[in-house]
This record gives sequence, structure tokens and C-alpha cells, in this order.
Amino acid sequence: MNYLQYYPVDVVNGEGTRCTLFVSGCTHRCRGCYNQKSWSFNAGRAFDETMAQQIIDDLNDTRIKRQGLTLSGGDPFHPHNIPTLLKLVKRVKTECPNKDIWAWTGYVLGDFTPLQRELLAYVDVLIDGKFEQDLYDPSLIWRGSSNQCVYRFDQGTAKPSVISY
Ligand code: SF4
Repeated sequence: MNYLQYYPVDVVNGEGTRCTLFVSGCTHRCRGCYNQKSWSFNAGRAFDETMAQQIIDDLNDTRIKRQGLTLSGGDPFHPHNIPTLLKLVKRVKTECPNKDIWAWTGYVLGDFTPLQRELLAYVDVLIDGKFEQDLYDPSLIWRGSSNQCVYRFDQGTAKPSVISY
């Protein structure tokens, strides 16, 4: 897996102060995509152990308290990216107590494959669906178009609550 950018301190991609990773690779090709350079799986640089360790260390940094990790892109739920991200989110949940994980995807939750659901099991808040330019609404929070949904997963509960902002 490659990644395009990593923000160790970010206050716009989810609640609170966060670490945000923009992974490379997306096949949805939404019209009006805000980040077309993330479509290529070869964009950016390889995500390696050093990068994974930096994220863990940043999440545990007590000087700047982070609420959690955000996965964006590109698409974190593309099958190419899932194996690497699974390792990362498992580490976050075991080595970074009380940190939440937010993720954006162009896939629709109801269509998730078993592999995508494996990653979803570690995600606390999911924003799903392609960006639809015709449904763009700047008043929406955490999503760009009204077809997208924000789901909050309570730990231990398979059923998410849908959040409307
Ligand atoms: S899912 Fe996101 S990154 Fe992928 S094309 Fe759509 S807006 Fe762009």
C-alpha cells in the first residue's frame, strides 16, 4: 500500500485533534473528486513499518493529545489497501487505548464484502458512499453530498447508529 500524505496533527478530518492518513488508490472516479491525484495506487510513497510506528507514537504522544486516527484517501476500503490497514488498526486498538478510528470510503456500507467488514470491525465512525456532485451540499458536516452517510459503531454492537448532521 502507498500513501499520499500523513498529517500528525489534524483538526478537520473528524472530531477532535487527530492523526490522518491519506492512502493511495481509488477506483470510484467520482465527478468532482477533491483529490484526484490519490486515484493511482502508485501515487505517494510506500507505507512501511517506520510510518506505522510514527502513527502509533503520535497517537500516544501526551504533549498533543489526539482523539484518534482518521483513514482517508484514496479509498482505505479498496481490497488492495485493506491488508496493510488491518495490521495498522489492530495495532492502534491494542497499543493506543481509547483512541477512535474514523474512515471515509466510496463504497456503500450495505455492499461491503467480508474483507471490507473485517476492517470495519475496527472503525468507530464510517462515512460511506461516492461523492455525487449533483447532491453536493456545503451545509453537510463530515460528508460532501447528501447520499453519503455517517455511521457510528458502538464497540461490541454490530448495528451502527446513523448520525445526521
Ligand atoms: S471515493 Fe473519494 S477519493 Fe475516490 S474518487 Fe470518490 S471522492 Fe475521489
